[in-house]
Amino acid sequence: MRDVVYVRAQNLTQALGALRERTNPMLLAGGTNVVDYIRTGALVADTLIDISHLPLRDVRVDQRGLTMGALARMSDVASHGSVKKAFPVVSQALELSASAQLRNMATIGGNLMQRTRCAYFREAGFACNKRRPGSGCAAREGSNRFHAILGGSEHCVATHASDLAVALMALDALVHLESAGGRRQVPLREFYRLPGQTPQIETVLQTGEMLVNVTCTKVPGATRSHYLKIRGRASFEFALVSVAAVIDAPQGIITSARIAFGGVGTVPWRDTDAEKALVGCAIADADVLRNAAKSALRGAESLRENGFKVELGRRALVRAVRTAGGDQ
Ligand code: SF4
Repeated sequence: MRDVVYVRAQNLTQALGALRERTNPMLLAGGTNVVDYIRTGALVADTLIDISHLPLRDVRVDQRGLTMGALARMSDVASHGSVKKAFPVVSQALELSASAQLRNMATIGGNLMQRTRCAYFREAGFACNKRRPGSGCAAREGSNRFHAILGGSEHCVATHASDLAVALMALDALVHLESAGGRRQVPLREFYRLPGQTPQIETVLQTGEMLVNVTCTKVPGATRSHYLKIRGRASFEFALVSVAAVIDAPQGIITSARIAFGGVGTVPWRDTDAEKALVGCAIADADVLRNAAKSALRGAESLRENGFKVELGRRALVRAVRTAGGDQ
């Protein structure tokens, strides 16, 4: 049994100070991921900094767009009337994430920062470069039905688990980071790192920095956006493939498309090839959309068990686009 020091931060300054000064610190908010992984040994912390009482729960939709505090509960954002109306893709992605009990506890920041659900990451007996750098990757030759077909390296092929991140990727969201040295904002597209040779480093967060809120503007088509999640069982499960589609098609012809995939990449995967192919397509013409969808997931490299994701992803894309565009 390993001793862990518990620190309850009374304000943001205290939290950032502890984050900078303590040994091997980890933030604790909803606790739905961190506690679980510390128990299994997948994560190791010497200090847990409880930030659950900090005033970072604001959820706001105004003329500039959407702002979500890092400590807003997933369920509160999902059921927020203005979010449902202005950014349905966000609300839908959250509603399809985890169980209702978990959504009532888990936070927006925690969801975006969650660690992979790769089964080998959780089990101390397996080689895993993300958990123990240099030990190898059991998934490459092991069970890899759930793993990535895009963005992987020989060192790691774990998918990113957040549905919300996929929706926010399609909306060109910004994450706002704070440290004792000040604030900065980073486009979500630049926030997550591909595994490369250092899969244990998953984001561009610096030591002593924490995510404090997330914003996105009202991009064209946001009010008719859609999140489609394909999974092994309908109750709660991580995505085999998911699609966030933000489509603007004023006369039934797509004038702009923002497309992101989940369940296929080591990071939430924005697909600009698919977006370009979709512009000019008629929403009502399934054959044209199917043809455009062939441009999606370019460069996919499948493993032994997950080659099905390419075709599944393209079919899911067509369905998501037609739903977002208003054609069932
Ligand atoms: Fe570990 Fe990544 Fe390999 Fe899974 S895919 S075993 S997380 S290195």
